[in-house]
Amino acid sequence: LKQNALRHAHQPAVTLDGHTIEVAANIAHTQDASEAMNNGADGIGLVRTELMFTDRQTMPNVQEQQAHYQAIVDTMVDKPVIIRTLDIGADKELSYVSMPKEENPSLGLRGVRLGLARTEMLDAQLEALLHVKPTRSCRIMLPMISDVSEVKQVRERLVHIATQLGLTDLPELGVMIEVPSAALLADQLSEHVDFFSVGTNDLTQYVLAMDRCQPELASRLDGLHPAVLRMIQIATQGAAKHNKWVGVCGALAEEPLAIPLLIGLGITELSVGAANVPHIKTQVRRLDLAACQTLVKTCLTLHSAQDVRQNVHAFLASLE
Ligand code: PEP
Ligand code: MG
Repeated sequence: LKQNALRHAHQPAVTLDGHTIEVAANIAHTQDASEAMNNGADGIGLVRTELMFTDRQTMPNVQEQQAHYQAIVDTMVDKPVIIRTLDIGADKELSYVSMPKEENPSLGLRGVRLGLARTEMLDAQLEALLHVKPTRSCRIMLPMISDVSEVKQVRERLVHIATQLGLTDLPELGVMIEVPSAALLADQLSEHVDFFSVGTNDLTQYVLAMDRCQPELASRLDGLHPAVLRMIQIATQGAAKHNKWVGVCGALAEEPLAIPLLIGLGITELSVGAANVPHIKTQVRRLDLAACQTLVKTCLTLHSAQDVRQNVHAFLASLE
């Protein structure tokens, strides 16, 4: 089975009824891009830039950042690379970025909120990203977006920096759906962004109000909870209003039981650990979109993540 998956790793993942699902890779370091490429990733769905710069004492300058981002885009040859702006705060810190002491860091100054509070950091990163060529391959993604006003503020900065550099060609700008308000407002956001990617790690934490770092809650922090699935459905329906695509780059994207549900909910890109790309493509190829949509309908009425798991388990067993 594994050999078979590897043989087809470089082919697209198409469902039985002919719908292509992009299977991309999540990476944190420049050198991880070649593993993604070798495993047949259709692109990079998430570069966690805050993890690229942890082994340093100072913030990398524009040229240093640009070199890292360009190296990833070069390795992926014409495949799209989604680079997320720094997501510092809560569970992710950089020793050289000073953070306020907070009672509830996960509800605090993190992700794009920090970027808009420390604009010199955000601007340097946007400038580095604007320099990457070709522009169409390098897409920018914003973490922890709550509403349209934040997107507008970042876009204004992006346009201003591009104008100063004499650049007219702007990269695509997308947002993470990981704050419930962004999921609820996806119909508004879809007019202002080029794409969405659901961060199920944080979205699950915020929908269920359970800290993702609390070990005693870990077993209940389940992205297959009907409330999380309903939240994702609101997001995909909102995105459809302006024909924007929605991916998933949280850990749920590589959970075998989640894949039929995500596809049934209208997700068209799954971004997973580079080593898992061939396996996830194999899973997609066994599925029928129409059947996944029927499965979702049932699962959204169930009362617990455990009931959803049982239901999907039976669905997958019936395919064998
Ligand atoms: C997520 O929240 O699901 C996500 C992909 O971002 P991170 O895990 O880096 O917070
Ligand atoms: Mg997140």
